[in-house]
Amino acid sequence: MADGKTHAQSNLIAGLLMTGASVWIPLPIEQIIGIAVGSFLGGIITPDLDIAYRTYEKNRVYRFNPTLGGLWHLYWFPYGWLMRHRGLSHWLFLGTLTRAVYLILPFFLLYLYFFWWYPLGCNQNAWWCMQNSWMNLTNSATAPFFRLPPAVYYAFGAWVIQDIVHILLDQVWSWLDLPYEYR
Ligand SMILES: [Zn+2]
Repeated sequence: MADGKTHAQSNLIAGLLMTGASVWIPLPIEQIIGIAVGSFLGGIITPDLDIAYRTYEKNRVYRFNPTLGGLWHLYWFPYGWLMRHRGLSHWLFLGTLTRAVYLILPFFLLYLYFFWWYPLGCNQNAWWCMQNSWMNLTNSATAPFFRLPPAVYYAFGAWVIQDIVHILLDQVWSWLDLPYEYR
């Protein structure tokens, strides 16, 4: 359980290294952007969002902008409340997936509403839509949402690596029995 500041610094270094390496290789520009975005997301959306109160990592957003910090805290509060500290949130890969899904879900639902529910006329005929929902979903609006460009996978990969850095640091901290501070 390394402290927030150490986590932030190690994620910053890891993010710079990953993005730097992708430039050095060089990868196509979309994938470099994907890796940079994933590194950033992994640095700001960390496994320690399983703590509902105002931690060091949330304080960074508060310092950037108090209103944004409040909204950000509110957005992740249910996640922190639902997740046991260092439980599923700290699992390799799956932990990252819970946060990615949590982040995207509201936007996905909005997307479904505006590109599927609404154009199909489900507002007027909700029962019919639900009865035929699987057929409607698979052959229409959701297909483009799942046909993601490779850059998205690169972003997710970089995010997973950021979480690995976090999990390893937590391990080292508890092995060495170092003190920690979340705030
Ligand atoms: Zn942690």
